[in-house]
Amino acid sequence: MKKLPWILLVIVIFLFYLSLKTDGFKTFINNESTLKKTLETTYNHITELEKNEDWTGLYNYLAPNDKNSTNLNQFINSSQTARKTYNRIYTVNNIEIRGDRGIIDRSLSFCINPDCLNIDRKTITGKKEYILIDNKWYFNLKNNIICDRNEPYPISSEFDRAISLIIQRLLEQNHPITTSRADSFKSIKNCLNIQYASTDDEMKGTEGLFYFSPSSSKEDLRILVSPRYQIKDDLLTAILLSHELIHAYFYTIDGNLFLSCFEDEAQAFRLQLLFMSTLNNEEIASLTYRYNNRTSPESIAALDLPLTIVNYSSVGPSESDPAYNKILNYVKNNSYYQEQCKNQ
Ligand SMILES: [Zn+2]
Repeated sequence: MKKLPWILLVIVIFLFYLSLKTDGFKTFINNESTLKKTLETTYNHITELEKNEDWTGLYNYLAPNDKNSTNLNQFINSSQTARKTYNRIYTVNNIEIRGDRGIIDRSLSFCINPDCLNIDRKTITGKKEYILIDNKWYFNLKNNIICDRNEPYPISSEFDRAISLIIQRLLEQNHPITTSRADSFKSIKNCLNIQYASTDDEMKGTEGLFYFSPSSSKEDLRILVSPRYQIKDDLLTAILLSHELIHAYFYTIDGNLFLSCFEDEAQAFRLQLLFMSTLNNEEIASLTYRYNNRTSPESIAALDLPLTIVNYSSVGPSESDPAYNKILNYVKNNSYYQEQCKNQ
């Protein structure tokens, strides 16, 4: 009787050994590591083609569904007009297989100018998605994984409603720019972590009631809301949030590498104004009522913005967009942003 536990243990070990030998288990292990290897080989090949600007070679790896909508000439044209970077160095940090999808977490170091000096080097990290079809890996035209979370953060329902309102109104405009912005916000939705700050100290002296925190990570985009902000209404929440959503999105796509601090701010104000321009008459009447009553400083600030910006010069870097130049000049002349952007 005393020997029984030993016998049981031997049987269990033997069964476990057998399970490792079964074809199913072996196939699983082999598949996983083989797929990782084939994906890495494909990825290295794709990046070489990119470096050599071999767009025809690259087109062979474009997913069949994208080939239906984009022919070779269109692909070459869009590749040639994309932003050029130089001396690219790709580093694979991690490879993950999820069914017929492969996810590569990679870093990319590059220069913006052809006379690349090491001090000019910039590095971005991010995840790229590849699809396995008939044992070959392909990429889609949109293969950046912007926010790799399946669930949203638990945020207050007023913020949830505000995000939905912003996305809905942008989509209703049925214009490529507003649709693209709505898609951008949808893509980061599960990574938005909007919380009330416990004290104003946490807001780092910002004047605003909403603040995109630079202590964010790409999968934890923190927007802090001042405790001074008691829930006003969904409209005002959405106006203030629309500005911060652009900061969060640019942070995710490393937009700060290509935009100055003033430009980043101007883009945020432009989106805020764009969202305000989608409001209907009743909503504007409600804001105007509070503006005229001078009861809500936030309504006053929100409505003063377009009235103030209109007075600034439209001369600036964008020849095609004088309204953007006005916003940029407003930001550059604002002492708060002069202070915020002085070291950047
Ligand atoms: Zn801002």
